[in-house]
Amino acid sequence: MSETAMRVRAQIDLAALRANVRALRARAPRSQLMAVVKANGYGHGAIRCARAARQAGAGWVGTALPQEALALRAAGDRGRLMCWLWTPGGPWREAVEADIDCSVSGLWALEEVSAAARAAGRTARIQLKIDTGLGRNGCAPGDWERLIAAARAAEDAGTVRVTGIWSHFACADEPGHPSIQAQLAVFRDAVSYAERQGIRPEVRHIANSPATLTLPESHFDLVRTGIAMYGISPDPVLGSPADLGLRPVMTLSATLASVKRVPGGHGVSYGHRYVTPGETTLALVPVGYADGIPRSGSGAGPVLIGGKWRTVAGRVAMDQFVVDLGGDSAEPGDEAVLFGPGDRGEPTAEDWARATGTIAYEVVTRISDRVPRVYV
Ligand code: PLP
Repeated sequence: MSETAMRVRAQIDLAALRANVRALRARAPRSQLMAVVKANGYGHGAIRCARAARQAGAGWVGTALPQEALALRAAGDRGRLMCWLWTPGGPWREAVEADIDCSVSGLWALEEVSAAARAAGRTARIQLKIDTGLGRNGCAPGDWERLIAAARAAEDAGTVRVTGIWSHFACADEPGHPSIQAQLAVFRDAVSYAERQGIRPEVRHIANSPATLTLPESHFDLVRTGIAMYGISPDPVLGSPADLGLRPVMTLSATLASVKRVPGGHGVSYGHRYVTPGETTLALVPVGYADGIPRSGSGAGPVLIGGKWRTVAGRVAMDQFVVDLGGDSAEPGDEAVLFGPGDRGEPTAEDWARATGTIAYEVVTRISDRVPRVYV
């Protein structure tokens, strides 16, 4: 099917992704870079993005779920790979056999990964996650001693090797937030405590995209970049992608399915939340919330059609929404660009985030499997 014949497509600019990886490596020249490709590469396609990031020098790839990491191995990824969101009974043995670095936040996880390593006859690579103040996953400060002692014992028994000590920021996208320095201090304490106990991690890491961009002292041995690698600013307060030397990777566009003239007073879409103010032209954009377009974009989301910004008229439905073109004309088959880099005048993912009360992370990540990815 030709691209224009496609109902909708997410064009993924892998050259832009590679350039973003190079730009981020230049921000942290003494650290390795982990390309974060969880959630299908923030909607961009994990396998293709991981491959492109490695071509641009990412020494590591990271995912949340072990299943995501195993899928990368099944697709042929052979480099250093880490995953961090485990639940009891997870696929530890498969991960150990696939040489995946497994994050361990507590004793139960250490016991499960050790048992998997014994069963596989291998030494598991584990990375100890410390909760330095995010209050989410990670070992709480009062529990370090026991976890680190148990990890040392497991190293002596040959079941695990602690390859990393790591953590995650809560407020790195708010430069100057007092929690940033507080988390760094706790992280340094945890690392030095573990090292005093004889742990020799290859990598110590805490920086996500905003910290990579704004806080060199947080770079340690490795930075884990997600959103910035996809060319999106972690937060508008840090500047636009162009200000940060980044280029958005995804362009989401659709093909108009119908264009029609209607009289004034014509109700549009479910609930008639929009009624045409006079005789006008309505264009049908055949994408909806099943494709990942936020329903909160009803009456708010921007779209470029015929060189002009329009706004979604009425409600976003499951498969489609309507745009009022006023006095302008269009043809079925014309392109509607929902978001992209912005240099053809189209809205950006940040514009959609602003219009729908969310963050650009969510705008790109929620684009569903229904939308074909076209790699260029
Ligand atoms: N590290 C961890 C543990 C994460 O959960 C994430 C994403 O939320 C990242 C790194 C990447 O963050 P960002 O997309 O802000 O670079």
